[in-house]
Amino acid sequence: MAQKYQSIMVGWDEWVSLPELGLVAILAKVDTGAQTSALHAVNIRAYEKDGVERVKYVVHPLPDRPEVEIECDSQVVGKRNIVSSNGDAEERYIVRTPIRLAGQEWPIELSLTNREDMQYRMLMGRSTMSGRIVVDPDRSMLCGELSTTLYDEIDKEDGQSRKLKIAVLSREPENYSTSRLVDAAVSRGHSVDVINTTRCYMNITSKKPDIHYQGVSLPEYDAIIPRVGASITFYGMAIVRQFEMMGAYTLNSAEAIGASRDKLFAHQILAREGIGMPVTGFAHSPSDVRDMLKSVGKAPLVLKLLEGTQGRGVVLAETQKAAESVIQAFRGLKANILVQEFIAESKGADVRCVVIGNKVVAAMKRQAEEGEFRSNLHQGGSASAVKITAQERAAAVKAAKSLGLRFAGVDLLRSNDGPKVLEVNSSPGLEGVETVTGINIAGQVIEYVERAIHRRRSGSVARRKY
Ligand code: ADP
Ligand code: MG
Repeated sequence: MAQKYQSIMVGWDEWVSLPELGLVAILAKVDTGAQTSALHAVNIRAYEKDGVERVKYVVHPLPDRPEVEIECDSQVVGKRNIVSSNGDAEERYIVRTPIRLAGQEWPIELSLTNREDMQYRMLMGRSTMSGRIVVDPDRSMLCGELSTTLYDEIDKEDGQSRKLKIAVLSREPENYSTSRLVDAAVSRGHSVDVINTTRCYMNITSKKPDIHYQGVSLPEYDAIIPRVGASITFYGMAIVRQFEMMGAYTLNSAEAIGASRDKLFAHQILAREGIGMPVTGFAHSPSDVRDMLKSVGKAPLVLKLLEGTQGRGVVLAETQKAAESVIQAFRGLKANILVQEFIAESKGADVRCVVIGNKVVAAMKRQAEEGEFRSNLHQGGSASAVKITAQERAAAVKAAKSLGLRFAGVDLLRSNDGPKVLEVNSSPGLEGVETVTGINIAGQVIEYVERAIHRRRSGSVARRKY
């Protein structure tokens, strides 16, 4: 019997497209060990429309570019228990969509799974190949590469100004930053609710994730802008996570907020990424303190409470003896502290860089009061606009990115040895920096959110253009 189509020779990985989902280019691993093909997706949410079960999900088709997000929506054609290569069984939704490869197009079934740590965002199983594909397992990309530039074109096309439903999570609706964000969103035509994070409550065992607030169930928001204060990090993260599960785009993820709040963890990540920072040490046992101090260097040393903010938990110890006794005192209070080399040449000044996405959008210098080394405005420091160097810019962007923050305030000290990152704040205050620079940061935050959401929903644009 004559074949209706020519068979396609493929290697162990191939670029394919799933045009109906807007996934114009995705590198699939050919997996003859698997029956069904799999697509790696996050935020998988089932819902019902006209009596039909459907599923919404987000795909990051390019593992190296997590900012490329495509929101997909498919009819569910089944559910199946699937055992993955690591032996875990999981019930997965099955969807049907056309695949395009080597000039041919045919419908396939895909299971949705959220193991995003996989290097390949799609696995092509035997059912997809059925008679059509011949595999040469020793070779790679026999059908050529697909361009991923369409994902960028989608992004350039400015967000067709769709009205968004935005929630700002904040306990202080009246404060400068919150009201600026609200005003910026409203003036760009969006609707905004300010939600008091600590007044949200939820039933986490419910099948359909939702959040209750003042006796009612919150609506589905397109985007969440979390302004989670340090004192409620833990609960705030849980609420942000719940919004993520409901499918909202969150400007900063719960995970990133948590990483930046834990000073020790944040320092470990920054160090791992090779970002310049003051030499920093940490010890638990009092008997190791002296040795640890030695490894950080000679006095003067800066001691910091892990949980401190606004300069309150930061002390300068002029001598080794002073450093030891301060540590002992803090220990008695069961407080965790870290020890840092003192960057004297910064002369009581630090630089706050406000990062949105891959850019520093504004920067200010904060100068400590006479006789004070802490430049925090809460400690009497004064702010002024400052021009930063390319090296400082790069360090700030890298620091925010390494913690996974899309909106951040990165503080750095100017040392003889280049910029040293001190801390990365996931809810940077806008008042000081907007006032001294005159830059509309709130507006830029909202524009960024618009672009991100547009990109997510751009599957339809890709479908049209393809
Ligand atoms: P906080 O979270 O309380 O603001 P920081 O680590 O930002 O704590 O420290 C507060 C201020 O103290 C900084 O803005 C800076 O001016 C000063 N400072 C902190 N660490 C050092 C250091 N290692 N060398 C010199 N000055 C420092
Ligand atoms: Mg600080």
